[in-house]
Amino acid sequence: MSRERLDLSIIIPVYNEEENLPILYQEIKEALASLQRSYEIIFIDDGSQDNSFAVLKQIQALDPGVKIIRLRRNFGQTAALSAGFDYAQGKIIITMDADLQNDPHDIPLLLAKIEEGYDMVNGWRQKRQDKFLTRRLPSMIANRLISLLTGIRLHDYGCTLKAIRQEVIKNIRLYGELHRFIPAVASILGVRIAEVKVNHRPRRFGRSKYNLFRLPRVILDMLTIKFLLSYSTRPLQIFGLLGLVSGAVGFFIALWLSYQRLILKISSANRPILLLAVLLMVIGVQFITLGLMAEIMVRTYHESTGKPIYHIREIIDAHRSED
Ligand code: UDP
Ligand code: MG
Repeated sequence: MSRERLDLSIIIPVYNEEENLPILYQEIKEALASLQRSYEIIFIDDGSQDNSFAVLKQIQALDPGVKIIRLRRNFGQTAALSAGFDYAQGKIIITMDADLQNDPHDIPLLLAKIEEGYDMVNGWRQKRQDKFLTRRLPSMIANRLISLLTGIRLHDYGCTLKAIRQEVIKNIRLYGELHRFIPAVASILGVRIAEVKVNHRPRRFGRSKYNLFRLPRVILDMLTIKFLLSYSTRPLQIFGLLGLVSGAVGFFIALWLSYQRLILKISSANRPILLLAVLLMVIGVQFITLGLMAEIMVRTYHESTGKPIYHIREIIDAHRSED
């Protein structure tokens, strides 16, 4: 496909945001007017049930720089973003929410930071305009935890306003609700990540799509990310370790019981700890087998997809040059 390349792609997932869209569009135009860069605005209508699509069509009819991707049903924010990433032609991808909580006037700040040589710039919402107990507190804890687990220290993983180089985002596949972890997933590739303080505004129209019920999912996603980051190419190292520990504890309890039974002639009949010993040994064997299976799957995955286990930033070789 010979698509012309643009400087920027602004990617905005939209789910029932009809009142916000015209204002958002105007603000983006304003913010980018002085920048002297070519850009496209991609709205992804994630199965909205209100008039969002009609409103988007009106905007698009007047501005060919606006593109609409309409999903068949509501697939969720991660899927909507991915659709945008796949379609984008810009060298730098900017993501933001459609609800006017992010401020398009922060876009130049992000771009300036990218220009300093970073692969990815994350927004850090100042004076967040959300409820404390149900939104800000959980997100504070989550930010600490994710930073700790991944080693990528960011203040605000939940901020959708981000700028990412095209070559980075095209190498990232997102599943489930992993859009919250784009920096952590990107860190698998070895990217340079920076943070920029951005404005945050209260939601004026429409409703937030999330509540506290997402917490368990976020925790499980964190586990996934930790696993992908640390063990995805060597799963036996984690499963095998668990298996060895469990199996060894079980084995020594069983050894001690055998000694008592055979040498000291103490009956094992009324000793429930025998059950524990057996259970631990069985679990140990299971974990190790699971680890071995996972090792085989990892190899099958990398070899069948041709995906390397490394990512190159650049190659310097006087005799070979990439065209
Ligand atoms: N969104 C979406 N699909 C969904 C849920 C949300 O495209 O299933 C969009 C939504 O329209 C908004 C952005 O994702 O542009 C963030 O959603 P929201 O503002 O509700 O999240 P919050 O800011 O409350 O975390
Ligand atoms: Mg919002």
